[in-house]
Amino acid sequence: MKISEFQKLIEDLYYEKDSSRGRDRTFMWFTEEVGELARAMVRPKDEDGTNLREEFADVFAWLATLASLEGISLEEVVQEKYGKGCPKCEANPCTCLE
Ligand SMILES: [Zn+2]
Repeated sequence: MKISEFQKLIEDLYYEKDSSRGRDRTFMWFTEEVGELARAMVRPKDEDGTNLREEFADVFAWLATLASLEGISLEEVVQEKYGKGCPKCEANPCTCLE
């Protein structure tokens, strides 16, 4: 699935709800999901990773929703910024000093 297809899917599923909730409250939900991802990442490694995988999906879905509320195509902006390599050194892989 392309990023644009995923963003469209999330719009079809949730745009009406997300739009009526509004940008600010939707951003709060996004930060909540980031917190859930953080918690999933610090859990013991003996779990099967299912929850961690779901949390990555959730964070990406909420990010897509926020982009849609702002009228931004995630696929376009990532292509613009990272499509030619590192935005700073323009190399791939990046050769910037940390
Ligand atoms: Zn770089």
